[in-house]
Amino acid sequence: MTVKKLEWIEAPTKKEKPDPNELIFGRMFTDHMFTMHYTEENGWHQPQVRPYEKISLDPASMIFHYGQSVFEGLKAYRSADNEILLFRPEENMKRMNRSNERMSIPSFNEEEMLEYIKQLIEIEKDWVPGEPGTSLYIRPFIIGTEPNLGVHPSHSYQLFVILSPVGSYYPEGINPVKIKVEKEYTRAAQGGTGMAKTGGNYSAGYNAQEKASNSGHAQVLWLDAVEKKYVEEVGSMNIFFKINGEVITPSLSGSILEGVTRKSIIELLQSWGVPVTERKITIDEVIESHREGKLEEAFGAGTAAVVSPIGAFTIDEAQYQVQDGETGELTKALYDTLTGIQTGTVKDHFNWVT
Ligand code: PMP
Repeated sequence: MTVKKLEWIEAPTKKEKPDPNELIFGRMFTDHMFTMHYTEENGWHQPQVRPYEKISLDPASMIFHYGQSVFEGLKAYRSADNEILLFRPEENMKRMNRSNERMSIPSFNEEEMLEYIKQLIEIEKDWVPGEPGTSLYIRPFIIGTEPNLGVHPSHSYQLFVILSPVGSYYPEGINPVKIKVEKEYTRAAQGGTGMAKTGGNYSAGYNAQEKASNSGHAQVLWLDAVEKKYVEEVGSMNIFFKINGEVITPSLSGSILEGVTRKSIIELLQSWGVPVTERKITIDEVIESHREGKLEEAFGAGTAAVVSPIGAFTIDEAQYQVQDGETGELTKALYDTLTGIQTGTVKDHFNWVT
C-alpha cells in the first residue's frame, strides 16, 4: 500500500531535549503531533503533522459530556545501531479499531494510520532517547468533537497522535511489588467496556487505586464484577501466574483488555515449550496453590513495565508472599527476552519488530 507523504507544518521553535535521566512519564511532549479529522461527509481526512500546541474546542463538544473517546499506548525504541524500532504496532492499530467499534467511533484504515505514525516518528526521531530502558511513548487517541448535548454518538471526531519521551520503568532494577486484591470495587463487567481502551475505564479505577496506595500497595488486583471470584487484571496490566510449572493467564472474557505484551508472552512461552494456558482462574485457586507451595511466580504484563513481578498480595487482612518477594526466574527471562527483542539485542524470530 502506498500512503502519500503527509502534509507537514514545521514548528517555528523547537524545545530543548530533556535529560534522559530525569524523564517523568507523560509530562513532556515532542515538537509535533499528528492530527486527522472525521466528518460524515468526508470520512477520516486531512491527515497532518503540525506543531504540538493547545487545541480549541467548543464547551459542548461531546467528549466533555459523555466521554466518547479511545486511546492507545505503544513505544518506539532506539537500537544500539541507532535504528528506531516499533514493537508489534499493527496490534495496537487493530485494538484501537476494536475499541472504536465498542465506543461507536468510526474505524480507520489500520495500515494507513500506522504509516502516518511512522512518518511522525521519522520527523521526531531525535526525540527517541537511547539510554537503557528509555523510549518514546506514542499516544494515539480519538475524541468526539460535535458540539451537541444529545445523548448519541458524535457526528465528528478528531484523532491525535502525541509523543512523549519516557525514562526507565525500573531505574533501580526490576523489583517485585505488593498488590491488593480488590473486594469492593470492580473494573469492568461482562458486556461493558473492559475490552476497550477508553478513558472512563481508567478514571473509574482511581478510587480503588488510591485506597490501595494508602495501605502500602502498588496496584489493585481486579476480580470479576459478578461473583468477585475470578482474577481479571492487575492495575492496568494483564496478569500471569506460574503454578506447578504451568503458566496461567485469565482468558479474554470481554471485560479484560487484550494486551500486546500478554499475547507476546503467550507466544514466547509456547516457543520455549513452557506450558501456558488461558483459562478462568479464581483467587481461591491462587491462594490454595500458595498454601500447597505450588505458586511459583506471579507477574503483571504491559507496555509500560513489560513485566512487573508480584512479590506479595493482600486479601482482606491476610498477606501472601510469592517467591520470598524475589523476582522469579521465568519472569526475569521474559523481561530480558522481550526488552531485548524491542531494542534489537535479542534476535526477533517472530518478526515482531518494525
Ligand atoms: N490491561 C489494561 C487495562 C491496560 O490498560 C493495558 C495497557 N494498555 C494492558 C492490560 C496491557 O496492554 P499492553 O500489553 O498492550 O500494553
